[in-house]
Amino acid sequence: MGRQLKVLVYDIETAPIVTHTWRPDMRFIPQNMMIHDIFVMTWSAKWWGTDQPAYSARVTKKEVLDRNDKRVVTKLADDMRKADVLVAHNGDKFDWPIVNGRLLLNNLEPLGFKTKIDTLKLSRKHFGFSHHNLDYLGKIFGEGEKIPTNWDLWARCVAGDTKAIKEMSDYCQNDVDLLDRVFYRMLPYVDRVARLYEAVHQEEDICLYCGSKRKESRGRYRTQAGTFPKYRCLGHLPDGSTCGKYRRGRASNRHNKAEDYPL
Ligand SMILES: [Zn+2]
Repeated sequence: MGRQLKVLVYDIETAPIVTHTWRPDMRFIPQNMMIHDIFVMTWSAKWWGTDQPAYSARVTKKEVLDRNDKRVVTKLADDMRKADVLVAHNGDKFDWPIVNGRLLLNNLEPLGFKTKIDTLKLSRKHFGFSHHNLDYLGKIFGEGEKIPTNWDLWARCVAGDTKAIKEMSDYCQNDVDLLDRVFYRMLPYVDRVARLYEAVHQEEDICLYCGSKRKESRGRYRTQAGTFPKYRCLGHLPDGSTCGKYRRGRASNRHNKAEDYPL
């Protein structure tokens, strides 16, 4: 059995940018018309494949009024630093750069290189669904949905309403639970996704998505260089669902090998 990597599923909620505008449909707002930039109000995270429930942190009334997210971002960054892999929906375009920018502006330690999985990108690349937002995926997978919210919740949060900030935090935590389940459902059907397990012993024959050694032969996998044995995993993901990921042997079948290499 392989060793599970530390995989952090996370999501952040931010305060809106505050700005002046001449018209409601103004396409570009110059920097001198901006009043306040974005900051993190709450986040939630869950260690994938563990029994630990999703957890979260949120700004206090004073912090939201001061637009100070240093304490909450510090806490999230600590866990992101411990993680081998980060999973977020639209994380590459939103959550990751927002957190990274807040680290810089708060003079916090950088995170360094992190392997990231963006479930929005995975969905767009691998599935012909009409929509790819988390709420839609949760619904069509039968895994639940996002808690309905509207602008009023954000407005109450930035006004310093602690009940609203708690509500926002619960909303975020529900998103992470939903994302965790959506990620499980997607995993067997996507390829070229970062591995979630590692071998404990050298050349241990394990699945890099569930750690299982159980596999069945599924024909051959051919590259320009050679022909390799192909397998399908018979193990289970940490939530008990079937893994079924494919992999190939490291060594090519010698008897299928041609003398020359194609150009
Ligand atoms: Zn597997």
